[in-house]
Amino acid sequence: MKDLITAITTRNKDLSDALKDEASYLLERQKHTRYEPKSKSRQPKRILIHGAAFVISTDARDKLSVRKNHSLYIVNGVIKEVFPAKQKLIPDSKVDLLYDAAKRGGVVITPGFINAHTHPPMYLLRSSMTLDKGNIVDQVKKMATLEGAMNDKDFFLGAVGDFTEEQKYGITTTLSHYGVFEPIDRAARATKQHVINCISAVSNSHPQNSPAMVEKILKNRKKYYTTPGIAMHYLHRATPEQIKKVKELVKKYKILLTMHSAETEEWVQSCIDAFGKRPIEALVELGLANSSTILSHCVHVNDVEIKLIKKHSIGVVHLPTSNKIHRSGEFKYPSFVKYKADKQICLGTDSVISKNSLDLLSEALQARIMHQQNHRVLYEDLFRMLTSQAASVLKLGKVGKLLPGYRADVAFWKLRDRGFLPYNPHKPVSLVGNMITHGGRNIRDLMIDGEFVISNRIHNVINESKLLDQLQLAHTQLRNRLKKSDR
Ligand SMILES: [Zn+2]
Repeated sequence: MKDLITAITTRNKDLSDALKDEASYLLERQKHTRYEPKSKSRQPKRILIHGAAFVISTDARDKLSVRKNHSLYIVNGVIKEVFPAKQKLIPDSKVDLLYDAAKRGGVVITPGFINAHTHPPMYLLRSSMTLDKGNIVDQVKKMATLEGAMNDKDFFLGAVGDFTEEQKYGITTTLSHYGVFEPIDRAARATKQHVINCISAVSNSHPQNSPAMVEKILKNRKKYYTTPGIAMHYLHRATPEQIKKVKELVKKYKILLTMHSAETEEWVQSCIDAFGKRPIEALVELGLANSSTILSHCVHVNDVEIKLIKKHSIGVVHLPTSNKIHRSGEFKYPSFVKYKADKQICLGTDSVISKNSLDLLSEALQARIMHQQNHRVLYEDLFRMLTSQAASVLKLGKVGKLLPGYRADVAFWKLRDRGFLPYNPHKPVSLVGNMITHGGRNIRDLMIDGEFVISNRIHNVINESKLLDQLQLAHTQLRNRLKKSDR
């Protein structure tokens, strides 16, 4: 026992020793880099990630695999090889940058996660819905007043706050559903986040939006950083004319269409009032039931509708935390499994007014806990929902797996971390369960498109301290623009 205590304690006698220890730790850390440039290139295109302790990804047949001591070779943003670290497959002459994922306990790598539903500019509204006192209806009203006073600078800053928080939690692709396009495009470019930028043609917060306005953006789509898509706040808010035009745009430009659907009983009734049909049946009748349609929430759908979702390959975004916070009801996960529609489900964060933090691991845990009573959602299925399954639902192509030919969106997690240890060495797949049950945590490094965006836990493009100052300033100015009773 005495040996054990010696093994796990520092030698510090008091605070002054500890502070000395801190200084020497910082000095020591500078020598601890995992990054070793092999050429003079300032933008390394050939990167070898050497000896990751574990590589977690689904394979070509979508089976979850945990490979021990493997290396990844990346060229021009694409994964070229994944191979056992002891094979010296890649000569030094073909490497611009070596990342040593083996030393000091090692690094676990996963594909970058995919967030299928969020409203990025609303990041500026954290604190407007803490739901401590007062009722939810009033709070939503106040939040909407605040949102109504936001300007383009606010939308941009909010989106930068949102994307960089997501990146800290290992998310590299985001589907944005919002009423503005350009500020989100600029934020994606500034943070290097992959974004499907679905602009509302029929918007709650931006009533001036229209399908014609969206088409203008689509015509210019080549000049944007993000991939444009189209959104409708709710189907029942759209006129038959608008729906017809939206349908044409989806077909003509081969884009995704996203909308909130069946979030509450009340919205279902509004749909029945507008179309004489429940939401999914209405989608079928209107010709919008297909794999280009992505529905968020889908809480109040019946068996007939779930069968229609399956039949027409409609994508579904499950948002358990948001559903709990807004008391929307419980997603019928077991019925999706029963009718084999569960492979069409992915997860999303929604905005900070509907979730604690913008990470998907805690959302996966929330999904597991929410359905525990009636159905056990396996960790491997949750992992798929964050990676390869989401990529297929959102039609992202070769994204969401660590396999040759796939886009190099990679999250690096320190193995020596409470989120992984202790794991079962005889069943390394236990790392996946550990990772999800521990909930969200920060990644060590993050690669998007073969480029390191976060290194050694620090964002390489956005200065986080300066960003937070700007967010606070913009939030204060936003509140100050309102009349006193609305602040
Ligand atoms: Zn939403």
